[in-house]
Amino acid sequence: MRKKIIAGNWKMNMTFDEGQKLTSEIVNMFKDEAVKDVIAVLNPPFPHIFPVKKLIGDTPGIALGTQNCSAMESGAFTGEVSAKILASFGVQYVILGHSERREYFKEDNELLALKVKQALAHGLTPIFCCGESLEIRMAGTHESNVKFQLTASLFDLSPEDMAKVVIAYEPIWAIGTGKTATADQAQEMHAALRRHIASKFGKELANNTSILYGGSANPGNAKELFSKEDVDGGLIGGASLKSRDFIDIAKSF
Ligand code: PEP
Repeated sequence: MRKKIIAGNWKMNMTFDEGQKLTSEIVNMFKDEAVKDVIAVLNPPFPHIFPVKKLIGDTPGIALGTQNCSAMESGAFTGEVSAKILASFGVQYVILGHSERREYFKEDNELLALKVKQALAHGLTPIFCCGESLEIRMAGTHESNVKFQLTASLFDLSPEDMAKVVIAYEPIWAIGTGKTATADQAQEMHAALRRHIASKFGKELANNTSILYGGSANPGNAKELFSKEDVDGGLIGGASLKSRDFIDIAKSF
């Protein structure tokens, strides 16, 4: 059975105090409201890792992630943070290939393949993002575009490694715009991605791969999105900064 996951992407938000308050609220609500059968992954900016980890403690169902890691193992790479360092601080997940990293920091499929390998080598679960621009959707080539992102960055992995990867389908036109993909549009793409994974790694592995939807998901639309067969959860930006909204989304399965 594949895992249901809600991953909160804080992006470049939250001061120390704000991050502590948000995490405490999420942990308390998660426990008090007995949220279950879902993994909630908090992905704060790097400096929050240690204090957020302490607040999460051993709360079942809540995990710690980050929004990036280096493609390098270690050494003279000023400003970089390696998967090895993250793992040593108890980080379990890492978002890779977010469209903002692809666009603003020019991360391409080849670099992302290296980052995925680093993450896996150090026991981190990559949440690998893919998704098309509005231009590509209008041109009708969205399916092949997104499949190619997977092929180029993930299809060199061994089946053992691929089985550990989580996919996030995030249409760029829906991220932070308030314009969510319809549940049917999400389902269509998730099913296509699952078929694509099956074509390389087999049906069983594809059926066990969690594929999350990201793009203006909120408590008002999460239930419908998560009701779709191939939608296994969400990568949540804006709504992950409000504890009530994040928990309500986690309760939307
Ligand atoms: C994201 O940043 O991954 C995201 C989905 O953002 P939002 O939910 O704000 O659209």
